Amino acid sequence: MSRKKIVAGNWKMNTSLKEAMLLTQQILENSASTSLIEKIIFPPFTFLTEVIKTINNTPNFFVGAQNCSQYLNGAFTGEVSALMLQSINCNYVLIGHSERRNYFNETNEQFILKIKNALHNNLKVIFCFGEQLAERKQNLHYETIKLQLSEVLSHFTEIDLLNITLAYEPVWAIGTGETASPNQAQEMHAFVRKVIANLFSQKIADAIYILYGGSCNPQNAKQLFVCPDVDGGLIGGASLKANDFIAIVNSF
Ligand code: PEP
Repeated sequence: MSRKKIVAGNWKMNTSLKEAMLLTQQILENSASTSLIEKIIFPPFTFLTEVIKTINNTPNFFVGAQNCSQYLNGAFTGEVSALMLQSINCNYVLIGHSERRNYFNETNEQFILKIKNALHNNLKVIFCFGEQLAERKQNLHYETIKLQLSEVLSHFTEIDLLNITLAYEPVWAIGTGETASPNQAQEMHAFVRKVIANLFSQKIADAIYILYGGSCNPQNAKQLFVCPDVDGGLIGGASLKANDFIAIVNSF
């Protein structure tokens, strides 16, 4: 089964407006040779509108938000709804990132509501999950991942799954410079496909995109992307440098 390749850049709480525009422009200008690989960038909320305007419907180049509210609308100070994101032509939203789980104590119940709102507003979702170092050390990583996936995804249909991309991001590899080995990534991605096959069907398991995230950089991307069940990467730190991000995109 051949799946398209995706490289997504999560800028987190970085860049000024000027830096965000420069980064967008540089990625745009240097992406011509990589047009078949889907690129998604996740700038901070405040710069989404400008970034979306700059990308101007370039083929295979999409923009996402790093989060959305679990609520539809109303008196929720500081929140940004999925409907607002849809209204500025945002394409994607990241849900379940380990920083949302660990620093903001977001729960599976919230992820379910957020994903529902996103899908209802025609946003595609990248759903992140991953084990902590202690869980891997205790050999609990498969069980942890199975639970993280099943407790959320069992609330969705096969049709919903067509608009959900998965991102396996072992927490011990995020921003630490320590990457999962290609073997570790492939083993877990193959396991994730099995979990999806059991929850839904083999057809969905074969079709779903599973990205790897965690200290992916131009030096290690090739070995990771060559793994048969790794469909691309969710890139944090290295996505803030246009040259590194493009080099990662060119690693396929
Ligand atoms: C991330 O935060 O999704 C991520 C993968 O970060 P980094 O590449 O910096 O480890």
